[in-house]
Amino acid sequence: MPFPSWGETEEGRDMLQEAAEQLVQAAKLLNLDPNLANRLRFPKRALIVTVPVRLDDGRVVTYTGYRVHHNITLGPGKGGIRYSPTVSLEETTALAMWMTWKCALMNIPFGGAKGGVCCNPLEMSRRELQALTRRFTSEIVMLIGPEKDIPAPDMYTNEQTMSWIMDTYSMQVGYSVPGVVTGKPLVVGGSVGRREATGRGLVNLIIAAVERLGLVPEKLTAVVQGFGNVGSVAAQELAEKKVKVIGVSDVYGGAHNPGGLPVDDLIRHVEAGGKVSEFPGVIPVSNKDLLEIPCDILAPCATAGQITRENVERVRCRILAEGANGPTTLEADAILQQRGVFIIPDVLGNAGGVTASYFEWVQDTQKFFWDIGEVNRQLQRIMLGAFQEVLSLAHGKGVSHRMAALMIGISRVAQAMRFRGLYP
Ligand code: GLU
Repeated sequence: MPFPSWGETEEGRDMLQEAAEQLVQAAKLLNLDPNLANRLRFPKRALIVTVPVRLDDGRVVTYTGYRVHHNITLGPGKGGIRYSPTVSLEETTALAMWMTWKCALMNIPFGGAKGGVCCNPLEMSRRELQALTRRFTSEIVMLIGPEKDIPAPDMYTNEQTMSWIMDTYSMQVGYSVPGVVTGKPLVVGGSVGRREATGRGLVNLIIAAVERLGLVPEKLTAVVQGFGNVGSVAAQELAEKKVKVIGVSDVYGGAHNPGGLPVDDLIRHVEAGGKVSEFPGVIPVSNKDLLEIPCDILAPCATAGQITRENVERVRCRILAEGANGPTTLEADAILQQRGVFIIPDVLGNAGGVTASYFEWVQDTQKFFWDIGEVNRQLQRIMLGAFQEVLSLAHGKGVSHRMAALMIGISRVAQAMRFRGLYP
């Protein structure tokens, strides 16, 4: 039997390489003290755990799980947990690093963390996923807690996963601790508006960009890659703003209709177990071709490494709004910028999720719950505030939106580290 590998994946290596290169470039622009820049290249701690699960056929399969704290200078670790065959230590570390910059950019008092289990959730039953979640939670229980590290949903995890995590943690300590995770259902201490917040926050920024460019939503087309928690809500919110959504995709493929897609019907179709490419009357396209459909707004809301040197020349949009983490490489970003594409980079674009997670954690801590008006108002305030900051730094320094967003996040963390000093 071969010695088990800790699941290095090509995707993970590429993502960590990308995240490290972003840090190097932003640190250079910031003229950051090399002592701090070097420290920030590494996570504070990383836990690799073994997660044995009895499958429905009686076999016990051993999965590998990770929880990484990149930096917790500004507060407890915060970041999602994903279930995917690409999950590795490298991928989780890159995603934790992005969480650090994202929280700092949004000025929310959390550090950056991420977790995941390398598995194929699409092939697992509900019972198997519950067993996986409960065992993974007990293996990382020493790292998590409302004051230590607060997980949330990410790829292929959802409100149900968060409920199982909350329950497992609560059973271990002996009382209910809603604040240990965010993205929970309302009845166990979730927040109104959290589920929609990533897609809604992204669309808030798209509309701000549209206004800035002197365009009108009614005359624009959009393509959204990914039809999960982020992409489906983004498509729905875009349609609500009268933007014509002409392409969407899920993990199995895409659906195109130059005349516009009925987003609400597509959501119902997917909820009933359908694939978007099989929706009546659409032109089926691959996920790769979907990105090359000419449109005004392109929103990659699926996974990392989608717009690269290979396909960037064929990507035709005016606004690139990143709902996923790491969908565009730095090389592709530079080419899009030269072409004058207005880029809403991931750490800003998808930050609505963690921002509403912060609201949920505040509500759980205070045992006092807000209404949807309050959640949406605060979300809009924080998103647009960060958007303005990014734009004015980008203009002032003549740097890309991505670099400006990273520079703001990184410099806040670095400043706090300098004040706190090196221990001991
Ligand atoms: N997984 C989401 C992200 O990548 C949300 C994290 C959170 O709410 O803590 O930003």
